[in-house]
Formats: sequence, structure tokens, C-alpha cells
Amino acid sequence: MVRILLTNDDGIGAPGLLALEETLADLGEVHVVAPLNEQSGTSRAVTLRRPLRFVPKGPRHYAVEGTPADTVMMALIQILDFTPDLVVSGINSGPNLGENIYYSGTVAAAAEAAKYGIPAIALSVNARSNIDYRQTAELAPRIASKVLKDGLPSGVALNVNVPHPWAGAIEITRQSRKISRNLMIEVSDPHGRPYYWMHEEVPLTDAEPGTDYAAIRDGKVSITPIRFDHTEESLIEPLRDLAAGTLVPRQ
Ligand code: MN
Repeated sequence: MVRILLTNDDGIGAPGLLALEETLADLGEVHVVAPLNEQSGTSRAVTLRRPLRFVPKGPRHYAVEGTPADTVMMALIQILDFTPDLVVSGINSGPNLGENIYYSGTVAAAAEAAKYGIPAIALSVNARSNIDYRQTAELAPRIASKVLKDGLPSGVALNVNVPHPWAGAIEITRQSRKISRNLMIEVSDPHGRPYYWMHEEVPLTDAEPGTDYAAIRDGKVSITPIRFDHTEESLIEPLRDLAAGTLVPRQ
């Protein structure tokens, strides 16, 4: 029997997770282990200086008081007494495209599973309000079935982003180079002191063909296979001379 671990970064009560839980149930037994509170933008952070707790929330449902990475580790090491066939993270409210995948808790949860060699999918919808998760949720079993059948190389996950609404086309993409412009939006507190909201502008006209941003711009689902080994192979040889000889410490 297929067993799926479902998690996210928006928290265990998030509507995107609930929508996905329903459609993934067609493929097998779904086990939900998700952060207790919203953890968007926490990336791969782990909790080391505070205790970690989890709370049962019903049959096959647990909430972890921590980050998405804490949550997946707690699920795989402590909560589940089996290794899931697949880990699905989402559906995130808001896209995870280009360099933003480095900050994403949704992608981090999939990365954490990929670290253990478990096939993983991160799912995000390109909308932030009045979201109808149904289209994305209904697409999920199709992608999940393919991954369950063919597997993924160890250390690799699929980063899936779905337009809102979606007309039906899918593109296999690569991660875009940075095209966004980061902003600090200045606001005043009641004492007249400035504070800031981090924000970004994304000129989608700059998106290169074949990238995640371009697919979303064109109304297509973007599926990017991403790997978490950051080694730059082309520099292994050119850097060898740095390793030649021995360094004698100064007396
Ligand atoms: Mn989120």
C-alpha cells in the first residue's frame, strides 16, 4: 500500500493542505505531519536552542511546533514508524519561483525529504487571496502517480507551480535566474518611526523561455526538477592548485 506524508509551510489548518489531503487519498494512505503555525519564508531553518514538541490532531494527523524542516525530520525520525513512499508539501498559498525557492518553507520540506532519498513534490499556487485550491489539488495525483511509478534520483524533488486559474497546459522548466527586484516598503509607526515590509516586483516580460517564471506568465503549470547538491562541478579542477602543498603555520 502506498503511504504518503503530506506537509506544508502554511500550517496544519491551511486550506491548501486540506484540499490536497482529499485528492491524494485516491493514491493511498495520507499521513499529515505539518507545522502548528505558519512558517512561510523560513527556508531550511531548524530549531536547535528550544525544545521541539508535536501534538496529535486526530488519526494520522500531527502538528509540530517548529519549522517545515523540523516537521519533516520529526515525522521521519519520530512520528512515523515507516518510510513514506512519497512526501508532498503544499499546496502553498503563493508561488515559489526563481530564486524564491531558497527562502521557501514549502520547498524546504520537500528538500528535507529528498535529503533522505524519499521522492518529494512541492506544490504552490500562483495566487495570494481568494484562492480556489481545487485545480491544483486535482492535478497533484497525476504528478504524484508519475513520481511513485518512476521515482526520483536521491536528493532531487519536483517544484510545481500552478497558475490561478489554470487552462490545462503543463511545461517542464528550469529554475529562472533572478529577474525580481527586492523592495523594502517604508511605513511609519504611531511614533513616526519608519519600519519596513519586504516586498518584490517581478517583471515577467524578462522571464527567459523554458523557465518557471515564463511558464507561469504563459498560464502553464511549471514543473522544475530541482536538486540540492550545490557543488559547482566546473570549478573542481581549476581550484585544485589551491589544495596543492601544505600550509605551514606561522611560528
Ligand atoms: Mn507558505
